[in-house]
Amino acid sequence: MRRLLIAGNWKMNTTLRSARSLAAAVKAEAPSDGDSVEVLVCPPYPYLGAVGAELDGSGVLLGAQNCYFEDPGAFTGEVAVEMLLDVGCRYVILGHSERRHVLAENDELINQKAAAALKKGLDVILCVGELLEERETDQTETVLDAQMAGGLVGIAEADLQRVVIAYEPVWAIGTGKTATPEQADSAHAHLRKWLASRYNSDVSDRMRILYGGSVKPDNASTLLGQANIDGALVGGASLQPESFVPIIQAAVEAANR
Ligand code: PEP
Repeated sequence: MRRLLIAGNWKMNTTLRSARSLAAAVKAEAPSDGDSVEVLVCPPYPYLGAVGAELDGSGVLLGAQNCYFEDPGAFTGEVAVEMLLDVGCRYVILGHSERRHVLAENDELINQKAAAALKKGLDVILCVGELLEERETDQTETVLDAQMAGGLVGIAEADLQRVVIAYEPVWAIGTGKTATPEQADSAHAHLRKWLASRYNSDVSDRMRILYGGSVKPDNASTLLGQANIDGALVGGASLQPESFVPIIQAAVEAANR
């Protein structure tokens, strides 16, 4: 049984004050056992420490939105995996479409970051997803295969237990357009098939695959009810407790069904 994960990607949003109060609200409402559903928030770098302190004593986990692959040293403006661990991060999001398409990150760089994060002790959420024109020209599976192969170069089977895949169709991120539950489930099933053929059926069965792209309280239940969807990576709706908490609750209900 794969444990559902609801992850909030705060992107380049919040202030110190709003980050603290959002964290406090999530902490107050998140399931205390943490057994059925894992909850994660990923604030901007400068607020990681304060949010981590706010979450202390709760089951809500802390994650970063990026990292650099080199050891600490002369890399102005970058943040090392060691620093993220030092402030209490458990996860790092890598390969997000905004980093791929706005900041021109390629699979090779994403792979270097993933390998470093796993080696040093951070769990990885690896995002993959196609552009609208790629979907419209029937290239979705080819794009997903290339991003999976490129992002996971050299990652050993044992380390895949600390990897989560997030399927995020780029055309659904921040647009209000959600993939239909069938579209999402079929992409997830394809990713599972890829994992079975590249690794084996154990890896494929165990891998958690999140859906991301305009997840909201009103569509969370249906999405989370799909066989191959193991949680959600939530952007916009993770910025308000009024929308993030009902998504967590939908996951708790899905887990108990
Ligand atoms: C995201 O940033 O990963 C995301 C899915 O954003 P949104 O939920 O706003 O579409």
